[in-house]
Amino acid sequence: TVKANKGVIIATGGFSKNAQLVIEYRNAEKWPLLDENSVSTNMDSIRGEGIIMAREIGADVVDMDQMQFLYLGQPKTGLLSGVFNVSAEVTVFVNKEGKRFVAEDARRDVISSAVFAQEDGMMYMLHSAESLSDPANQLNIDGIPMKELLDIGAYGWKQGDTLEELAKEIGVPAENLVQTIAEYNKAVDTKNDPFGRTLLNVKMEKGPFYAIPRVPALHHTMGGLRIDTLARVLDTKGEPIPGLYAGGEVTGGIHGGNRLGGNAVTDTVVFGRLAAQSAVDGK
Ligand SMILES: Cc1cc2nc3c(=O)[nH]c(=O)nc-3n(C[C@H](O)[C@H](O)[C@H](O)COP(=O)(O)OP(=O)(O)OC[C@H]3O[C@@H](n4cnc5c(N)ncnc54)[C@H](O)[C@@H]3O)c2cc1C
Repeated sequence: TVKANKGVIIATGGFSKNAQLVIEYRNAEKWPLLDENSVSTNMDSIRGEGIIMAREIGADVVDMDQMQFLYLGQPKTGLLSGVFNVSAEVTVFVNKEGKRFVAEDARRDVISSAVFAQEDGMMYMLHSAESLSDPANQLNIDGIPMKELLDIGAYGWKQGDTLEELAKEIGVPAENLVQTIAEYNKAVDTKNDPFGRTLLNVKMEKGPFYAIPRVPALHHTMGGLRIDTLARVLDTKGEPIPGLYAGGEVTGGIHGGNRLGGNAVTDTVVFGRLAAQSAVDGK
């Protein structure tokens, strides 16, 4: 038993790894393929337990149906690990037909929906020697030299000296892939992309070319405990529950329907501090 004399601050994160809560609140119209088998970028402990406990003592919840997918998950686990670079500037996405299907710099929900609509709900993220020019010294997002991953094909990485070779490696029609990349390079030249991409600075002309398979993975739950501007948890009548505070992804109503990258950490810092200050002040 923990005895808190100033108050309790709930900071247990979101609920991406709690299939029961996800199913209870999912927006089936927006995410028709979201089910209990959906993968997530999150750790197993991110189960919304703080939300469940607070709900049991009368806390209100808000925006619970607002769930964010990130399209950069490993097909089996959903984890982000493996990718070289998450910047849209240095990649092109293709489906199993070797064709582009979305602007790579679109919103997270737009890209995720588009990937779900492709065959097997997956895509390949492509790079070329224009950006991945020195695999022995360039690190991936986990800090591993890209060469180590490429040599053993970790995370499904494939490579080819030419686009035709890469197409064979990933099993997409070579003529489609060649045409797709030619059209993309033309879009970089003309600054006019049929998919509406605006980050058009890096061509894909030089091999080797590289590809990694990726799927949309549940990444952030924008819903959670309803709090006020002092980070006090509110009950269903809008009244603060005495001594109960919350900050971070366990709360809802902060980010709307599509959290922007970077804003979650800001959220934890801002509302964590407010919660602590309120607890100290006995507000
Ligand atoms: C792979 C990945 C990359 C991300 N990258 C970014 C980024 O670049 N920028 C950004 O702004 N956001 C990013 N996010 C989102 C951001 O990391 C989270 O929203 C943020 O960490 C949430 O912080 P938090 O303190 O609320 O909860 P968390 O950081 O999730 O911490 C909650 C903690 O509570 C523990 N816990 C859960 N239940 C219990 C319990 N019952 N009892 C005790 N402990 C419990 C958990 O184990 C965990 O340690 C990323 C998320 C992921 C998954």
